[in-house]
Amino acid sequence: MPDRDYYAVLGVKNSATPEELKRAYRKLARELHPDVNPDPAAQDRFKEVTTAYEVLSDPEKRRIVDLGGDPLAQAGGGGGGGFGGFGGFSDIFDAFFSGGATGGGGRARRSRVRPGADALLQIALTLEEAAFGVRRELSVETAILCTGCQGSGCAPGTNPVRCDTCNGSGEIRTIERSILGQVQMSRPCHVCGGTGERIPSPCPTCAGEGRMRARRTITVDVPAGIEDGMRIRLAGQGEVGPGGGPSGDLYVEVAEKPHEQFTREGSDLHCTLSVPMTSAALGCDMVLQTLDGEEKIDIRPGTQHGTVLTLRGKGVPRLRSTARGDLFVHVEVRTPTRLDDRQETLLRELAALRNEDVAVHGKNGGLFGKVRDKLR
Ligand code: ZN
Ligand code: ZN
Repeated sequence: MPDRDYYAVLGVKNSATPEELKRAYRKLARELHPDVNPDPAAQDRFKEVTTAYEVLSDPEKRRIVDLGGDPLAQAGGGGGGGFGGFGGFSDIFDAFFSGGATGGGGRARRSRVRPGADALLQIALTLEEAAFGVRRELSVETAILCTGCQGSGCAPGTNPVRCDTCNGSGEIRTIERSILGQVQMSRPCHVCGGTGERIPSPCPTCAGEGRMRARRTITVDVPAGIEDGMRIRLAGQGEVGPGGGPSGDLYVEVAEKPHEQFTREGSDLHCTLSVPMTSAALGCDMVLQTLDGEEKIDIRPGTQHGTVLTLRGKGVPRLRSTARGDLFVHVEVRTPTRLDDRQETLLRELAALRNEDVAVHGKNGGLFGKVRDKLR
């Protein structure tokens, strides 16, 4: 889970367009900028808002947020070796309090090896596949560890060398004057990007990146009961990071194809069963195709249009459970059309017997029928 909800900080929806983000940020910045609002609380809020905007306006970072990650958490804590990130506040802070006292290697250098990005993939499933689970082979184009150098980025038989500009420390220190006197500042070395090392002869396969693009096949076991829009996380199946860093995760998002017979609501299913008027009146046996095969349905005599029959446990299995939802059968009573003479006579007789013929149209279809016939 992300540490912060960047969308909430800016007060926008997750679906906000870049324009909407910009507008929301401008509005907040006008209220909170330290030049206009001296309140310390406003300053903290301004920083928060600015960070949120920086994250969400970067498509790559926003993608990580939308996948449930936190791009800032990743930038600082990655690498697996406890290397600190560079930047902003803590550098100045360290400079005040460590002074020159620690002498030399005060801080860890940035790792050349960084964690890889997460990847998102969509798969379309039928209702049956989503209901009962399915195994899928997916072909994914992703960054894998370079086969030429196994991630080191160096040509065969060579190694990284120490950066001459920063003497391998990854940072360049300068003394600057400030209101507090002389302050030692440090910033990442621009030659080696803060890593403290240089690759003299890069691997020809990956140009020193440590990773390369390749297509590979991944097997996904989709659990029974999954629903449209849900995501399956495959840990470590995302992109390999720069310098051969640990892989991100792969998320597989499920899109459920519409079913021609069933509508799904969570683990329940709904369908319509069409019954001729006469059968609904007299009662009948019908056969309904369910997810589990054919099911006999007993239509009781006098069944009304709109009646809902419940087939317990004939719905979709619940995710990570043995329980199942129900199947709701909505009865649709079909009125007969295109009656021949004999059928019409019989229906008239029935109507008369039931005293239901009071306002029944005459042989030519009643008043409206007569008007219609004249217009023809
Ligand atoms: Zn390589
Ligand atoms: Zn350097």
